[in-house]
Amino acid sequence: MKKIALLGATGSIGTSTVDVATAYPNLFRIISLTFHSNSEKGASLIEQLKPQYVGVGSEQIKQELMERFPEVEFGVGEAGLIKAATLEQVDVVLTAVTGSVGLNPTMAAIEAGKDIALANKETLVMAGQWVMDAAKKNNVSILPVDSEHSAIFQCLEGQKEGNLKELVITASGGSFRDLTREELKSVTLEQALNHPNWSMGKKITIDSSTMMNKGLEVIEAHWLFGTDYDKIKVVLHKESIVHSMIVLKDGAYLAQLGPSDMREPIQYALTYPNRLPIQNEKSFDLTQIGQLNFGLMDFDRFPMLALAFYVGKKGGAYPTVYNAANEIAANAFIDGEISYSQIEEFVQKAVENYSETNEVTFNEVIAIDKQTRTIVERWIKEEGRL
Ligand code: NAD
Ligand code: MG
Repeated sequence: MKKIALLGATGSIGTSTVDVATAYPNLFRIISLTFHSNSEKGASLIEQLKPQYVGVGSEQIKQELMERFPEVEFGVGEAGLIKAATLEQVDVVLTAVTGSVGLNPTMAAIEAGKDIALANKETLVMAGQWVMDAAKKNNVSILPVDSEHSAIFQCLEGQKEGNLKELVITASGGSFRDLTREELKSVTLEQALNHPNWSMGKKITIDSSTMMNKGLEVIEAHWLFGTDYDKIKVVLHKESIVHSMIVLKDGAYLAQLGPSDMREPIQYALTYPNRLPIQNEKSFDLTQIGQLNFGLMDFDRFPMLALAFYVGKKGGAYPTVYNAANEIAANAFIDGEISYSQIEEFVQKAVENYSETNEVTFNEVIAIDKQTRTIVERWIKEEGRL
């Protein structure tokens, strides 16, 4: 019986994780969970899963739910996330919160010796070096949930380290893959949220359309697999059937294919190295799919992808700045405060605005993250246009 802490239980990944865990009640139990504001969905999850501990986003939600569920212990905010992630009985923490709120609970879980099933890629982008060092020191596994990284992880199984030539991450291209940069200027939130292949939370759907998501994934892959940026390639693959590939020294390509169903990588992160059937599996028939297409990624069309390689190679807190600026800008676009093209403008400007001469410490990275948020919030107030 694997005991799971599920951070971000009400979201898209959270919901798929509940499906995976409840399909095998003898193998999995979600003993703690967190959610931010959707107390209706949160309450129904508490009824369904009967967790011991629940972290919520506000004191008000805590009070409401304490009356309804006197047998459950509740916590609020970051303290609640940390407690949920570090309960003694927890074996693995599935990090399905969105954004940088995932960092501190993930670090606390690693220090408490919990394995991590990582969906929250922002954590690795923000502080990859420190997260990976802590995992190594505490002998903790970080298992990828992101579909591309799960694919690469699966392809790498059984390969000798020296065999690898490069990683090839596939990109669907997001909602605006067929638009020119000129056409992007007038797009709406509703159009941006309409992803062609995947149904996901709002922020990651916006990130997919700006190619920020692929940029974050490049940096995530660098830290998860210890691969140099020069050996990470991105190709356009509109079908999202090949979830990613590796290329070996002799030129052999290994690819992992499957339906667009996040339950697969989630389940593999929880059952690794074993495999189990997925309930009500999505139909997947290559003879019906017929064709798979691959194309070059245009770095001029998608400057956020080019910028990911730039900040990744610069290292230090550059990826932190890239991530923090995007988090604020993408959420401001979702909230109707800025135009779509301002997401890119603010991320680009935040990176240009930043300079670093010395090595940074973990605490400095946290401070730089905060500073970047404040600066971008100010730009939004001063320059936000819709
Ligand atoms: P989502 O928006 O659907 O859900 C986010 C969850 O985080 C919710 O449970 C919400 O309550 C919680 N949350 C939001 N803000 C919070 C805060 N300030 N404090 C505490 N909790 C908060 O997002 P999602 O699509 O499930 O994505 C979650 C993470 O997984 C992201 O990092 C995303 O990049 C990653 N991911 C998602 C997918 C996908 O298919 N959805 C695929 C790969 C990776
Ligand atoms: Mg992905």
